[in-house]
Amino acid sequence: MIHSALLRILLISTLATLLTACGSEDASNTSAPTSENSKSYNWKMVTTWPPAFPVLQEGAERFAKNIQTMSNGRLNIKVYAGGELIPALQTFDAVSQGTVEMGHGSAYYWAGKVPEAQFFSTVPFGMTARGMNAWLYSGGGLELWREVYKPFHVVPFPLGNTGVQMGGWFNKEINSLADIKGLKMRIPGLGGKVFAKAGGNPVLLAGGEVYTALERNTIDATEWIGPYHDQRLGLYRAAQHYYYPGWHEPGSVLELTINQRAWDSLPADLQAIVSSAAMAENVQMLSEMEDKNLSALQELKERPEVQIHRFPDDVLATLQTLTNETLAEEAANDPKFKRVYDAYEAFRKKDDAWTDISEKAYLAIGK
Ligand code: CA
Repeated sequence: MIHSALLRILLISTLATLLTACGSEDASNTSAPTSENSKSYNWKMVTTWPPAFPVLQEGAERFAKNIQTMSNGRLNIKVYAGGELIPALQTFDAVSQGTVEMGHGSAYYWAGKVPEAQFFSTVPFGMTARGMNAWLYSGGGLELWREVYKPFHVVPFPLGNTGVQMGGWFNKEINSLADIKGLKMRIPGLGGKVFAKAGGNPVLLAGGEVYTALERNTIDATEWIGPYHDQRLGLYRAAQHYYYPGWHEPGSVLELTINQRAWDSLPADLQAIVSSAAMAENVQMLSEMEDKNLSALQELKERPEVQIHRFPDDVLATLQTLTNETLAEEAANDPKFKRVYDAYEAFRKKDDAWTDISEKAYLAIGK
């Protein structure tokens, strides 16, 4: 009896050794992967940026490269700028439909399809990068964002931030609301709606057309991004009055979008690599933006033709009142918009109260 039990154990262990041997043989002799740990993924990422666009397209490319390095070549992402594979503003649809696995852009580009997405990018007089990161990463914002994109089979992540933008370039001084009446300005999105309520005439123009339109006086003013990108575009040659702050874009969050099915197909370690790389790049892009802006501001200040002004207080106060009206109107007409608006506002109010006695109080100390 003992003998046959021993024999059985021996047989089982021999079989197990054989099976293991077969398994490893399979892994080394065939190209088909035997486990998800050896499987490699070749993905495409499309962005809304022009080719080689500094900070933003560069950041998307660095993010892809970091993932390739961290995954030891198991997740390879080929990045295409806007128009290289699909038109820039079809990024969300391409990710949603699974034509590509990843996209990089900003949520307010999809306002026509998902109006409440704008809160995950920026809204006029809304939170800065600091507040947005606090809301998204820690205050429930990212969970809400994922719920909003779920019906589109898209998983969003924050991936960069422009920081506070500039108010824009004007061909005349803005001393009162009367100076805004009838002013033709390139200012997109909710900012444009508010500008129209204030009597302005918002114009929609792609980045490539902005300089020429301002230079030829087809428009009287334009906003773009911040000192760095604005100087690069040469806007100071087309208009001399440079206004701050960028009330309409206090810190635009850039987004990584991933097709839900593609995301679900990744093993847990690659998902962790993607999440961590996105968070790292979020910090990197914002840091680079701030660093380049502070240098470019110095350069612009040294140009004698450039005059830097703060918008008058009463102009800003009116724009803020009109923003609150605009957001409340949209919320009244759209329950989905209202749900995100309410969550955003609840966080923003607490953030304002805290900022009043932290960053704002500190920065208000005369230096
Ligand atoms: Ca802008």
